[in-house]
Amino acid sequence: MTSPAVRNEAEERLLRVLKQEERRGFDDRAVMGGLDRLLKNFVGRLGPQSALLRAILDLPPMGYAALTPPQRRHWAERVQNPPAAAKEVAAGRKQPRPRPATGVPAAIHAVGGLSTPISRLSIRETTAQKIAKIKRGVGPLASVYDLLTHYPFRHIDYGRLAKVATLQPGDRATLARVASVDAPFRGNRGRPVRAVLTDDYGRIEAVWFNQSWVAAQLKRDQWFVFAGKVGYFNGRLQFENPEYEPANEETREYIDRGRLVPVYPSTAGLPQRTLRRAVGLALKGYLQLVPELLPAEIRHEAALLEQQEAIQSYHYPQSLDEYTEAEKRLGFDEFFIKQMVVLARRRAWQSGAPAPNLSLAPEILERFTTSLPFSLTGAQERALAAILRDLRGPAPMSRLLQGDVGSGKTVVATAAIVAALANSHQAVVMAPTEILAEQHYQTISRLLGAPETAGALTTAGNDYLDRPVTIAHLTGGQKGSTKKEVRAAIAAGEVDVAIGTHALVEESVDFARLGLAVVDEQHRFGVVQRDRLKKKGESPHLLVMTATPIPRTLSLTVYGDLDNSIIDELPPGRQRIETRYVAPYDRPWAYTFLREQVQAGRQAFVICPLVEESETIEAKAAVQEYQRLSTEIFPDLRLALLHGRMKPAEKDRVMTEFRAADADILVSTSVIEVGIDIPNATVMLIEGADRFGLAQLHQFRGRVGRGSEQSFCLLLSDDPSDEAKERLDVVVSTNDGFKLAEEDLRIRGAGEYYGVRQSGLADFRVAQLSDEGLLATARQIADRVLTENPQLEGEEYAELKHQVTDFAASRNIILAFH
Ligand code: ADP
Ligand code: MG
Repeated sequence: MTSPAVRNEAEERLLRVLKQEERRGFDDRAVMGGLDRLLKNFVGRLGPQSALLRAILDLPPMGYAALTPPQRRHWAERVQNPPAAAKEVAAGRKQPRPRPATGVPAAIHAVGGLSTPISRLSIRETTAQKIAKIKRGVGPLASVYDLLTHYPFRHIDYGRLAKVATLQPGDRATLARVASVDAPFRGNRGRPVRAVLTDDYGRIEAVWFNQSWVAAQLKRDQWFVFAGKVGYFNGRLQFENPEYEPANEETREYIDRGRLVPVYPSTAGLPQRTLRRAVGLALKGYLQLVPELLPAEIRHEAALLEQQEAIQSYHYPQSLDEYTEAEKRLGFDEFFIKQMVVLARRRAWQSGAPAPNLSLAPEILERFTTSLPFSLTGAQERALAAILRDLRGPAPMSRLLQGDVGSGKTVVATAAIVAALANSHQAVVMAPTEILAEQHYQTISRLLGAPETAGALTTAGNDYLDRPVTIAHLTGGQKGSTKKEVRAAIAAGEVDVAIGTHALVEESVDFARLGLAVVDEQHRFGVVQRDRLKKKGESPHLLVMTATPIPRTLSLTVYGDLDNSIIDELPPGRQRIETRYVAPYDRPWAYTFLREQVQAGRQAFVICPLVEESETIEAKAAVQEYQRLSTEIFPDLRLALLHGRMKPAEKDRVMTEFRAADADILVSTSVIEVGIDIPNATVMLIEGADRFGLAQLHQFRGRVGRGSEQSFCLLLSDDPSDEAKERLDVVVSTNDGFKLAEEDLRIRGAGEYYGVRQSGLADFRVAQLSDEGLLATARQIADRVLTENPQLEGEEYAELKHQVTDFAASRNIILAFH
């Protein structure tokens, strides 16, 4: 136990430090080395009930240092007067409990309430144990609330059971008698169970694979309801792995009433009817405890069912319409909570110190664009107009600029940089790797009027800015003295644009007057890094660029705190990359083709198949492929190897060599960088192409076609199925990254996108990401609520506030509610 005296001492010390912080404008300098060290020392000395401990645990993983000064102020205020809600959140964190994808109702904390363990229902102990084994993305099913929100993935329409004779291919259900069962003998369990079903109007065969226990349950001459997929086998209709349940009083009643009966995700040995009964008991005993999330006003505005009614109907709808209504309501809740979180976060950023006004005079813009060797595309103009509007402040811009590889994002970003420079502010450009940073250094220097870059500092002169400007390049390989010099120049305001990797810039660069931060390929970076970056200046404008197309609904959710601009048009005259599907037996042709290209002086990439299990195994496979190609196929060519287990410096070395044409073929895993520019590379050969997402294939394809020569993308697949080929044909037939991203979302779900799974912002249990309309409504209402009632005051908003805060806390997002 911690003695109260110790606790008070620690608390008093902290309160004193916070007072000093306040005086210093929350610059994290009140104690040497920053506050986090002090806080870490406190943690072990505080009792579990300490409000101070809860406040410390509430900090994001990167600690106090990662907060912006306004966030620190807010946190300090909470430490001084801990609010009730914060206590609950922190208390919940001490005893981890399963969290649904949305927030958790406050009422779950009440004893005997929604957190009642499932085993308290009048069900068998073994049933409770089996229920706990049901696999789902959000932790085990433990409480009655978890069971209430264990939603069915479909329903069987008992009102429309087909006669056996009229069963059609597709999903159908029927009421039938077992005419005969053919059970595999013992020792031959691999064989399927077969049964013949009849209802005196017709007969159909049913077959179950890998479910030998079925044979014992299907009693001859007994009636069951069968539901499942009907398909053709050997020219005859057949039920495949149907679910079944004995026709008894319960099923009779379903049939008589024409009920839609839920089918739940379950686990081996837990029949639907048992699970259904458990959910039924939870509904009967506990549904009335589920609090309403939404104020009546919002329900009316969006025409939504009430909470309890929606949950009831989602399990047991009286009609299809009712089901659709229930789905809409529950889906809305999921969208709404996440929109509240991202929009509140955005507000928190924007309400800090005002951002500088970086208005760009039309004459300067005009002269900048005339200095370019081309004219901007319409899409570039539109994106730039939105950016220039944002740059006038006072709210800091937070904009995501999406555009396919080669669509011309860099030029647009450079125009924004010109706006910063014209207003005597600095700009920073951050890239995920050294080599991309260097590429930006060269491109941006050239665009600003320097024909060549020279070392770490380049001076550029042009006729639209009234002075020469200095561009600095930060690299890990720089000499200590150069590093010091560059950093000093940035801090002194002598550098106008600093370009480097995220790591280098974040580490130790101080800016004299940072006005704009440009972040390339941000999908690899979290919220915390963005907050950190903001901390570097008073409140710089933020432009995030990505060449990874993200479907609109997904970006509204995961990057919902950013405004969105899309460059959806390539500059004219761009060559089209010739894409081909290569069947397994055509591999030798592909190798010959690759060799011809190399002999003509070009270079090629070979991408190794994706190995999901681990980067280590993937690296191993790449090493093997590299050896095989070097010795057996291309012993006379120069090969290089790149994989994820290599150190960043090693990767950079390999890429630099390849760019200098010191190798002909680069064998790589999927780590090959987005955005890397190697104009001499004309072939992208992708092994195991069917294992990649379509959008990712498109990314790979973008690595070639950067020069003047015709380029090629060859898709090899070791899965010769029609389905694999069909999927790859989509990549062959379109060059539109967004179309491919939408297709990916449809086929593979949201979890396939970089950073999306980790964000937790795209796990939906009911909502469909394709439901753009519902998402738009949720976003619009969330925005209005936050405008009108930013603190979510009032009884009607209490539950909403609780669940939003709870969800945000589970994602380490700090919101400015108090
Ligand atoms: P991204 O960063 O979106 O991949 P870049 O900005 O690097 O694209 O542009 C790719 C290439 O296209 C560069 O060589 C650039 O100079 C050129 N480019 C950009 N905009 C245009 C345009 N409107 N017309 C012609 N070429 C353009
Ligand atoms: Mg680029």
